[in-house]
Amino acid sequence: MNMPPTAHRLCIGLLLCVLALLGGCATNPMTGRSQLILVSEQSTISTATSAYASMMSTLDQKGAMSSDAALIARVQSITDRLVTQAVRYRPDTEHWAWSVKVIEDPKTLNAFCMPGGKMAIYTGLIHQLDVTDDELAQVMGHEISHAIANHGAEKMSNQLLANIVVAGIAAAARTSQDRQKRQDVGTAAALVFINLPNSRTAEEEADRLGIELAARAGYDPRAAITLWEKMMRQSGGNSRVDFLSTHPAPPKRIEALEELQAPMLKLYAQSQRELDASRKWTSTAANETEVPDAETENPVEPVASRLSDNQSPAGQPLAFYSKDFEQFKSGDAELSCSVPCALSFFLKQGTLREQYAKGAWRALAMETLKTDYRLDLAYFYLGMAAAALGFKDAGKKYLNLAIAASASKESSCADGILVRCGELDIRTAAQTALAQM
Ligand SMILES: [Zn+2]
Repeated sequence: MNMPPTAHRLCIGLLLCVLALLGGCATNPMTGRSQLILVSEQSTISTATSAYASMMSTLDQKGAMSSDAALIARVQSITDRLVTQAVRYRPDTEHWAWSVKVIEDPKTLNAFCMPGGKMAIYTGLIHQLDVTDDELAQVMGHEISHAIANHGAEKMSNQLLANIVVAGIAAAARTSQDRQKRQDVGTAAALVFINLPNSRTAEEEADRLGIELAARAGYDPRAAITLWEKMMRQSGGNSRVDFLSTHPAPPKRIEALEELQAPMLKLYAQSQRELDASRKWTSTAANETEVPDAETENPVEPVASRLSDNQSPAGQPLAFYSKDFEQFKSGDAELSCSVPCALSFFLKQGTLREQYAKGAWRALAMETLKTDYRLDLAYFYLGMAAAALGFKDAGKKYLNLAIAASASKESSCADGILVRCGELDIRTAAQTALAQM
């Protein structure tokens, strides 16, 4: 764009103002984190989908799509398994037009999944790193996580300048009426999606969600570490690959992935058992000799015990692993903040009350924990949530803490200045709940 710098700044400022009025903060459906979302997910998907189509048709014309049938099938089968899992966490994405392409480009170490589920991987990543299936699943799991956690909309919201650039290129192409240029517009728009860095928080989320999708899909979580090691060796940390594109520095991200190994290995083992059971079923069905008896011969964990592994009841979407939630379940969560946290609880009390009323127990527990406010009402919420979710011992512990807290002026909502109990008499309500357990 041939615009003087001041006009540029003015233009960006104006756009920011307009968009700030139109949009706002949204809670990430996958992680519970607040995101600045100024662009709707649907509009991000539309932009990404047409950018992807244009980019792929240009690459196709240049003969840059892989014709390696075995490789394409391999990538397809891995992404299919990951998408099946992603849909269990976010059922509405079942209607996304998920698809994957393999781009023949031995020099590029990259892969992406755009908002709406359009994926691609460059052969450079596959061949240069000589990735195993488990490692490939980590790459694509990470990319799919960006998409289901709506990082695209967040990225666009945080990087409005990029919108102006794309709009500028599009305007230039409209005037020229040049077909080639129109194609380039699509490719440029797609590149904006692919190359704009995600925030550090988004990268950490994608790492965490990706390793879980892969583990559920039957891919070894240890591959997340070996993949990182390979990437760092290969690129020396200077790569366009999404994994390495942002802070925090790799050692910190590897550390986080290492911390997740224990719970993810549990999920991986569970998915292996389920795969074995389904293989047994398939082979038995093919032989038509006997009905498989999964209960005795090849036991799949019963639903009740699987529920304790951050699963949700049947028919409910899965929830991602959370260390805080695990602590809550075991009854070890503590609310440690006094007066300074009253305001954050006060601001959330409407939401908490609503979650309590409609029985959104997991969300209630997570939100209450986030406030960290040592209050009888907060412990009461934790106790009721734990009891309703089937963590009886934890529920008893929190309800007793609620009763204890209600006896002290500092931690009782009956005496609260900001936060009030409403119609609840915490002591009586907690005792009643305990008596029913
Ligand atoms: Zn990423």
